[in-house]
Amino acid sequence: MVVVSPSVSISFLHRRLPPPRPHLLQPRPSPPAPPRSAMAFSAEPAPEEAEEEPLPLVTGPGEVTAEEWRRWGTSSPLPATVAAVVRELLEMEAQAGQKMRFGGVGSKIKGDFKDMEDKKHRAVYETLADSDQKLQYFSARQIACRLLGSRGYLCQKCWLPMEDCMCAKLGSCNLWQGIRFWLYMHPKDFLRQNNTGKLLWQVFGIQAAPLCLFGIQEHEDIMWDAFQRSGKGKVSFLYPNKSTTPMSVKDLKFDGLNLSCDHQDEDVKDGPINFVLLDGTWSNSAALYRRLKERWTAIWGEEDIPCISLSTLSASVMHKLRPQPAWDRTCTAAAASGLLWELDMRSELGAFELGKQAEAVECSLDVLLDALTTRRLRLGRSITRKQRHNRNCI
Ligand SMILES: [Zn+2]
Repeated sequence: MVVVSPSVSISFLHRRLPPPRPHLLQPRPSPPAPPRSAMAFSAEPAPEEAEEEPLPLVTGPGEVTAEEWRRWGTSSPLPATVAAVVRELLEMEAQAGQKMRFGGVGSKIKGDFKDMEDKKHRAVYETLADSDQKLQYFSARQIACRLLGSRGYLCQKCWLPMEDCMCAKLGSCNLWQGIRFWLYMHPKDFLRQNNTGKLLWQVFGIQAAPLCLFGIQEHEDIMWDAFQRSGKGKVSFLYPNKSTTPMSVKDLKFDGLNLSCDHQDEDVKDGPINFVLLDGTWSNSAALYRRLKERWTAIWGEEDIPCISLSTLSASVMHKLRPQPAWDRTCTAAAASGLLWELDMRSELGAFELGKQAEAVECSLDVLLDALTTRRLRLGRSITRKQRHNRNCI
């Protein structure tokens, strides 16, 4: 548990439901795919958190400005809930007469200040009327701690410690205007060094691949407003085996799009197809999915939300650094690249160089893997998967 106690865990939201196993691959009718090749997207598991390095004790002074917020990878205004939590923390710091310290995974508050803050945030939590408010507070607090704890330490673009910044090695690429990726990210993945969702806006830009933080109202409203503008026919979630009728990339309809690669204005007029990538750990992705489904049903009155599965996803290079039984999962960026490859196989989309865009994502994954590997070697950490997971290896 990172910054909330078990009694105020987000798990209250889905305590009665067993965690689903989100598979990106649809089962192949013949021959059946072995379990280890049935991959789903995922970030990293809890066990890896324990071995992540502590944050140095550096925090900048003062509140988070709108500009500082945007430099982390979003064009949204600074969320009001995040700003409020930051302000509370700074006020508490002033009253306590001692510096706040953060450390470990998720920028946990450290030292004497921790107990004081813990009491205070529990008290706030108790006053919140419903589960949605509690969720929003949980998200805001997670994000506020990460913002303060990462100041002056992480590169604001690549989310790596500044001495390992990989930005100079990353190339950019235009994403075809007929599609847009939404990174629906769990707060615990925000500012994580080995998060791969961030690669998408690093490669394609924050307009083509916007970040939407789970439980942050401003972000979620921006995303859903975009969905309502484009219409429900142009929204697709990469979260398979949930729809009554499972869909794959070949079921997507591009009828409304101008399939001409040299009429960009007309493409924009029609609006892109919105692909939502759930960017969180295995268990957190279930909460992300539930929240998406709730809002979909509230807006369009339908229980069945349009999910698609990928069929040709290859193992993510990130697996090499992820000590988890992850042979049946893959990371968010690899899911995006897999989707682009499948779209590239659609003959009517052949002119849009989607394969090239998929390669750009894969290159960025290689760059991230190299940067993380270099760092781990320097810090004397293992770069292979833990022995206990090797039984799952091919
Ligand atoms: Zn950087």
